Amino acid sequence: MDCIVNRTHFLNARLADGTVADLTVSDGRFSAIAPAANTTPPLAGTIDLAGQFVLPAFVEGHIHLDTSFYGDAWRPHIPCTNGFDVRERVAFQMRNLEQAAPMEERARNQLELCVGNGSLAMRSHVMVDAAVGLKHVETILGVREKYRDLIDIQLVAFPQSGILSSPGAAELLDEALKLGCDLIGGLDPASFDRDVKGHLDVVFGLAEKHGAGVDIHLHDRGSLGLFEIEEIVTRATASGMEGKVAVSHAYALGDISADGLDRVGERIAAAGVAIMTNAPGDHPFPPVAALRKAGVTVFAGSDNIRDSWWPYGDGDMLNRANMIGYRSGFYEDWELEAACDVVSHAGAKALGLEGYGIAVGARADFVALSAAHIPEAVVAVPKERTIYHAGREVARGGKVSARCN
Ligand SMILES: [Zn+2]
Repeated sequence: MDCIVNRTHFLNARLADGTVADLTVSDGRFSAIAPAANTTPPLAGTIDLAGQFVLPAFVEGHIHLDTSFYGDAWRPHIPCTNGFDVRERVAFQMRNLEQAAPMEERARNQLELCVGNGSLAMRSHVMVDAAVGLKHVETILGVREKYRDLIDIQLVAFPQSGILSSPGAAELLDEALKLGCDLIGGLDPASFDRDVKGHLDVVFGLAEKHGAGVDIHLHDRGSLGLFEIEEIVTRATASGMEGKVAVSHAYALGDISADGLDRVGERIAAAGVAIMTNAPGDHPFPPVAALRKAGVTVFAGSDNIRDSWWPYGDGDMLNRANMIGYRSGFYEDWELEAACDVVSHAGAKALGLEGYGIAVGARADFVALSAAHIPEAVVAVPKERTIYHAGREVARGGKVSARCN
């Protein structure tokens, strides 16, 4: 197919403010947005959206492309021996991965699932440890290259087996960043490595060395997890990394009182640290509304899809907004709009995406679906969608429909 689309007119697009507009896309970006002129199609280079609702493409802010079994054989979930235990879950994962289909095939399945549902930007954590070395990173870097025409992917060098407790991990993480990972990850500095300062010294040291962002998995609960969040916030400020640091999961924020949250929320916001949640079913999770009120950027991701951690996940960020709204007790329109913001604009801010949104000058990456407005889209989660990347259709009916290569 011809992938250089100089100019396309999208007629009768329903916007978030309820108006119906004609959108002009030139060289992949919105060049004009004007009230619908009721032009009679077909004109050359014209697509009639017929009143469909248009949303910016979703942001999948946290996923694991290397460890999903989506499209592979079903792997029954194995429970931990004594409650949730990260170390035991990692051991289950290692065993499962030995029998899995090739990683590239599984990653592609998962990527196409996400694009088919309307995500055109993504942050994936990729495992780095002594056992797998840089194998996962090298494979996923290759997959990223092959999907460059469809989706923008940020990769996090993720120390799945810890840093200090995993011999050689620091050197491998350094190497992963040299190879092309965009961010350095971390994993429960206290409960996994039992050395918060040592763990964060490596993470922020490598971030500074490579000019990389930071995104740390933090499952630790209660005051321990809160202490780690405060340490990360202090480091982010001290190293001038406002807007480049994220804490994923941050279950501890779901454990504290409203008073405590006010105080820590302001500190997190001031440090420009973003919080990622997937609103997991059986864990306390960060209070989305309270954090947003404090000024914190809260974004979301699918996290695990059909992997060794849990069997759920569908790669649909609109459905994720629904889950976040459902678990947060969001009923009012402004709350449902906030749930949608978490998977779209807030995600774009957390990932530092340029030119995001339905606006003149922004990249024409958008989703068209049947809904009257955002609140209805969040509660109804319409599955019939058409996805446009730089103004050209790339997916419909949940499947990738066109490629440039
Ligand atoms: Zn994760």
